[in-house]
Amino acid sequence: KPQHVRLPSWLKTPIPTGNSFSKIKDDLRGLNLHTVCEEARCPNMSDCWGGSNKAAATATIMLMGDTCTRGCRFCSVKTSRAPAPLDPHEPENTAEALRRWGLGYVVLTSVDRDDLADGGSAHFAETISRIKQKASHILVEALTGDFAGNLDHVRHVARSGLDVYAHNVETVEALTPFVRDPRATFRQSLLVLKTAKETVPSLITKTSIMLGLGETDAQVEDALLELRKNNVDVVTFGQYMRPTKRHMKVKEYVTPEKFEHWRKRALEMGFLYCASGPLVRSSYKAGEAFIENVLK
Ligand code: SF4
Ligand code: SF4
Repeated sequence: KPQHVRLPSWLKTPIPTGNSFSKIKDDLRGLNLHTVCEEARCPNMSDCWGGSNKAAATATIMLMGDTCTRGCRFCSVKTSRAPAPLDPHEPENTAEALRRWGLGYVVLTSVDRDDLADGGSAHFAETISRIKQKASHILVEALTGDFAGNLDHVRHVARSGLDVYAHNVETVEALTPFVRDPRATFRQSLLVLKTAKETVPSLITKTSIMLGLGETDAQVEDALLELRKNNVDVVTFGQYMRPTKRHMKVKEYVTPEKFEHWRKRALEMGFLYCASGPLVRSSYKAGEAFIENVLK
């Protein structure tokens, strides 16, 4: 008999089906876009998509294929040392699809491509500049990897015309070696974020931390301090959820009250805004948050 882990009540949400889900499917049909929202059956779809303000509607698009050269212990993306080559038409096709779709805010993310000489930075930058050429009203957030610490690649993406440069530290420094691929370090990630901001100071920089991996409060405090020292503007907190039995275990289901504590703490420390909650993902209602806090 399979063992069912008992989830706390605040994590029990309906699987996205029904009206909003099929509407998204209809919108996507024919656009040939791979949204993380849909593929991960993200429980936040109606929040990110819903509401009357189309300018705030947010979706997350995956670029550069579905196979990653890294293997983080929390992530269910497929791994290979040599994923398929990039699709040279992807920047143009993505820009055209987004123009037709009418979203207000897009998060572009990707697998890590350590197999490519530039880590895919030129492909990322080209996609962003084409979106801005075709549909300048769309706010663009790029959620990149660390480009193996090559800061020229970070600068290339930072100069491509995007609005938000995001890179996730994922966890506190002490747990990083147990959570992320060994090629990733907390310090390298701080440098990515710092460099993006230095390159284009008007950019908003953003990162995300998963809770429930066994981190202590002091370690979370410390992570927030380090992020602020490196001029990171926005932080989000969400609950780690184990994708399969082969992935790391959840150490703790962090309560909604604790998430609220970290949200307040982040604001006290000077972060521009902070989304924090059990189901929050780094892209959660990102359009709405940007419009309320940055464009106001
Ligand atoms: Fe999509 Fe991210 Fe919103 Fe989920 S949280 S629906 S992945 S934009
Ligand atoms: Fe997953 Fe990103 Fe790690 Fe690749 S680098 S395994 S996509 S979290």
